Amino acid sequence: MNRYVSLFLFLLVLLSGVKAQSVTDYRLLFDKCGMGSGVLKVQCDFTIDFAGCDSVALDFGGNFEELSVEELTVTPDTLRYRFDPLSKQIFFYNAGADMQRVQMEYLFMNLTSVFMYNNSGAEVWECIYGESAEYYYPMRRAMPYSGEVCFSVPDTMRVVYQGGCDATRWQSFDRCVALNFAFLSSSRYEMRTMPGDYHCDVYQLKGQQADEHRYNELCRLTPLALQWFEKTYGDVYINPKYGVHDYPAYIFHSGNAAFNRYNMGFISASQKKFATYPDIYPIVHEIGHRWIGEYSMFIDSGERGYAFIIETLNEFMTLQCIRDIEGIAVYENLIKECRDSWDKIKGTERDVHPVEVVKNNNVPVTYRKGVVMLDSIAREVGYDTVIDTIVHFYKACNGKPDLTYDDFERLCKFIF
Ligand SMILES: [Zn+2]
Repeated sequence: MNRYVSLFLFLLVLLSGVKAQSVTDYRLLFDKCGMGSGVLKVQCDFTIDFAGCDSVALDFGGNFEELSVEELTVTPDTLRYRFDPLSKQIFFYNAGADMQRVQMEYLFMNLTSVFMYNNSGAEVWECIYGESAEYYYPMRRAMPYSGEVCFSVPDTMRVVYQGGCDATRWQSFDRCVALNFAFLSSSRYEMRTMPGDYHCDVYQLKGQQADEHRYNELCRLTPLALQWFEKTYGDVYINPKYGVHDYPAYIFHSGNAAFNRYNMGFISASQKKFATYPDIYPIVHEIGHRWIGEYSMFIDSGERGYAFIIETLNEFMTLQCIRDIEGIAVYENLIKECRDSWDKIKGTERDVHPVEVVKNNNVPVTYRKGVVMLDSIAREVGYDTVIDTIVHFYKACNGKPDLTYDDFERLCKFIF
């Protein structure tokens, strides 16, 4: 008798391990009416499938445990949940039925965004995985999800969102593609649409716009870079599987903390740097993230090869794109700059192997030394061989949950 009981329990464990938990059929309303800067009222309904488990944990919350989520209500009242602001997680407990509809309402304060874009008339809302993450609706990477989203904004604001300002639908499976959007003050921003086939919208701060030469540079490089990456990876930019429904819009803001912050719907970057930097190649790097880094090829922070996979490979491919578009002389000069930057840290503690950078906190190694090392290999074995290897890695592993550096090593034909 006992033997049968044991067998039965074993099967249950086995079965529960097979069926994946999911959160689907979202109805999300992001309401900006009457809200101050950096504050959003969120109404959020979704269906949890516990898949036989006692609970499900979703990422939820922001960087300031006391302030990010306020006035939270969860219905039905009978549903047991626990919100842990410190770990930025909300736990829901299975009351007996595997499928559970949940309704939530709260105010979310994205203080990171407010600090970053203060006074620029732009509020960019983005989920980034890692320490700076802001989960303004409950979700989890690599968990299947689907749903519908809408925005409510006053007349003085416009929403920039993947698929365009009027997009109200979003649906995606496989890897979790976070919803990212920006609220822009209509009176502070000028909007232009690029000529040509891609129709990328460019939002610049009024009174601080780049000159025509620089704007034209953006209009020239964007389609060339998009075509180069599409052809090289053999995979077009627009990809509903990853929530990419349109070509990127550019939002130039007054933030300074980072040159670019990339999302699937738009590329946001410093207005001042766009207007004054010697070149705008970092924007090509952001376009390249559609394929490597960010969402489609992402490994967790802290893992061996983290910065190498999400940044070094993309920066190397970016420079190959520039090499083809701008010519060898420009490329050689960029490689020389990388070498000089690496030279400055040689012999210091920072001069580690690029694969050993497990947080994105070592610019000279991740964006310079790593690129020089890949370039040196390319000079030995041929640029096409190195590019083909990275493309092969992308084709084999994009969208793979729990990507690791070993996946790259396994597919890599050259020693790195
Ligand atoms: Zn990057």
